[in-house]
Order: sequence, then C-alpha cells, then structure tokens
Amino acid sequence: MDNRKEKCYNINVFFVEEVIMDLSNENIIHVKKDGIEYLQFRKLLEYGLVNCFTTRIDGFDLDGRLDKRVTDYNYNRLCNSLGIERNSIARPNQTHSDNIQNINEIIKLTDMDGIITNTPGINLTLSFADCTPILIYDPINKVIGNIHSGWRGTIKKIGPKAVIKMKEDYGSKPEDLIVCIGPCIKQCHFEVQDDVKELFEKEFGYLNRNADIIKDEEGKPGKYMVDTTLVIKLTLEEVGIKPENIYDSKICTVCSSNVVHSFRADKEKSGRNVAIIGLR
Ligand SMILES: [Zn+2]
Repeated sequence: MDNRKEKCYNINVFFVEEVIMDLSNENIIHVKKDGIEYLQFRKLLEYGLVNCFTTRIDGFDLDGRLDKRVTDYNYNRLCNSLGIERNSIARPNQTHSDNIQNINEIIKLTDMDGIITNTPGINLTLSFADCTPILIYDPINKVIGNIHSGWRGTIKKIGPKAVIKMKEDYGSKPEDLIVCIGPCIKQCHFEVQDDVKELFEKEFGYLNRNADIIKDEEGKPGKYMVDTTLVIKLTLEEVGIKPENIYDSKICTVCSSNVVHSFRADKEKSGRNVAIIGLR
C-alpha cells in the first residue's frame, strides 16, 4: 500500500482472501443488497430522501461502451432497490458547464451540470468518475439539487451558483441548507501541472488559503496536488452555507477505485458512477 493510500480517509477496510472494502464512515453507509452495492448519505436518509452513489457493481457507462440492455438492467435493479420508478430519472447531458436548470417534469436536458426541483418523484441523476457530486437539500422548502462539479465546474463555482438559484427560485435560505459532498478525487490524487495550478491560484487566491488548496508534490517539480473539496466547501460557506451543514463523504474515488469508478485510475476504460437524489 503506498503512502497516499494510507492518507485516505476510508475506514472499515477488511482484508479477507481478497480486499473487500466497506466504505461506510460517519457520513456514509455502504449498502450491499439486491445483488448491488451503493453508498448513501446517512444525513439524507434521516430526512427520508432518495439518495445514492453507485459503485462498480452497477456498471453504468456514459460512452455507450456497455450494451444498453445491461445499463437498463442495472438501472432497473437500482431503482427497485431504492423504491423509485425507472421513468422518474432526470439525467442531463453533462458538459462541465455551470448551467443549472430548475425542472418540475422529466424533460430532455442538454449542456446541463446542475438540476434542482421541488417536485417529489423526480429523481435528479448525474454521472461521475472523479468529479465532485454536490447534493443539496432545503428541509424547510423541500427543494433538492444535484450538481456535477469537476475541477472546471469548481472554478466556475457551480455549487455556490446552485445555492443562489435555490434562493432565487424557491426562497431557500443558505443557512438552512444541507450539503453533501460525494465521493470524488481528493487532494491525495488530484495531481496537476502549472496550467491548472495557476487557474486555482488566480481564482481562489482571495480566499488566502492557497497553502492548503495547493501543495507541491514532493520530489516532483512542476507537479501539484489540489484540494477541490476544500475549494467547494470554502466557496459554499461564502454564499452562506454553514460549515456544520456540510457532510463530506471523505471518500477518494482513486484510493477506492476497486469499489467505485475512477477516471484517473482506469483512464479511457473508466465507467461512471451515478449520484441520485429525490424527494419522496
Ligand atoms: Zn486518493
């Protein structure tokens, strides 16, 4: 096990004949039932929300490399396990934009990386392989959001923009909102070069946290490790989210790439995990 893996936050790692990982922690429950495995936020379950982050066991794939029948089969058994209808899935075509749409019916969504709704029975679904899922819940006005924040979306502040949109469209108060940060590539594995490092310095220098956000990689001149989760947390706090209302999965998709899909780990062969949130 390399040093980076030791830094990983995962707990409950059991070594049997082969490595069987259980990614449960104080914020996450690793569900294994109905022949599939997925992760759920304990906080969102307390509120009775549909929610999950799928694993490799489900085999979702964006690029059509998987037979559609397999994808359908996997969606069907996931929906059965979550107790939702297959036709209740709202899934946009994602483009690393900062476009967010408020929907109240299942419609075709293109060029969209954030969706919000207050309609029960619409399950907001986005796909991920290292990018950050941000699930938002307003328990007062019963509004939800699902946001795809890759490093480009993080630079464009798509998470904070979703909070502002929930405020504008539904009167949500940021201080009431619950935010869950799903499994994503963490600082232990998000290695960048000068070009991306400089973008983060330029955009977030004003936060005065560059020393925490960007670390030089030991023994690798010109390589840096960036903490996008920290940037997301700080920029959400800037728009009024309370730090104690942010629940971090603390799971690095690369460290846990034997359980979840990771683009850095699997390159172009990588599948996708889907994150779902819905009001019942
Ligand atoms: Zn890692």
